Amino acid sequence: MTTRRMMVAAAAVLALGLSACGSDDPETDTGAGGDSEAEGLKVGIKYDQPGLGLKQGSEFTGLDVDVATYVAKELGVEAGDIEFIQAPSAQRETLIETGQVDMVVATYSITDARKEKISFAGPYFIAGQDLLVRSDDTSITGPDTLDGKKLCSVTGSTSAQKVKETVPGVNLQEFGTYSECVAALASGAIDALTTDDTILAGYAAQEQYKGKLKVVGQPFSEERYGIGLKKGDTAQCQKITDAIKKMISDGEWQKIVDKNLGPANYKAGAGNPPTPDACA
Ligand code: GLU
Repeated sequence: MTTRRMMVAAAAVLALGLSACGSDDPETDTGAGGDSEAEGLKVGIKYDQPGLGLKQGSEFTGLDVDVATYVAKELGVEAGDIEFIQAPSAQRETLIETGQVDMVVATYSITDARKEKISFAGPYFIAGQDLLVRSDDTSITGPDTLDGKKLCSVTGSTSAQKVKETVPGVNLQEFGTYSECVAALASGAIDALTTDDTILAGYAAQEQYKGKLKVVGQPFSEERYGIGLKKGDTAQCQKITDAIKKMISDGEWQKIVDKNLGPANYKAGAGNPPTPDACA
């Protein structure tokens, strides 16, 4: 080979190497050789759900954050190499399908409809759908008391779906995030917010809403939280499932639950800790 041809070949290898890294974020690229897989992990979480997934400045906290961090470690990824990306309810499948995230850990219920687009590992937690109302409201006691009420939920959630099916007469407004619903509830623009009791407990316990909002406390669904990943990635599903099982058996699951849901006085209900499903 001539020197010139070698240089062209070297340039091509370099270009390949760079594109193989495929990172659009220079911060996560440590430049430590392009051949190692999974240097970092992009994880979709919620940014506005206290106790579950919350971003404050550059800090991320919550059950989903801790579960993701534990699972990542089992996959060989250190906490500092995780990149958290906001995953609003309606965008979760798309974020996974397009590869913008490697996994979603975001109060993400395992459903057959979602399984047509993506795969799940888990469940790692079981919650139930409930209602959040203003503390002085005695008229809303469950889904059967919602007729004619203004209800809020989030686009692309199982919560919105379920309430449309069970209370066809309800006046449902769908927002992009639950924190928008909570603000509307506190201001009186809506009468109730429906989603998982975990999420509702987190809002009710927030300083600015303390004493103003209450969770009705009659859960009417089973929400099995899974970790969403690329459809058909059985190998990754198995690794994550093993990590979830280990997290439960080594006591870390209980610690994570107590630390994140304890402050809102949330008690994990029946079925917890769950047994993860087999990876299909
Ligand atoms: N767990 C439900 C769901 O996955 C509601 C909470 C959410 O939207 O994240 O749709």
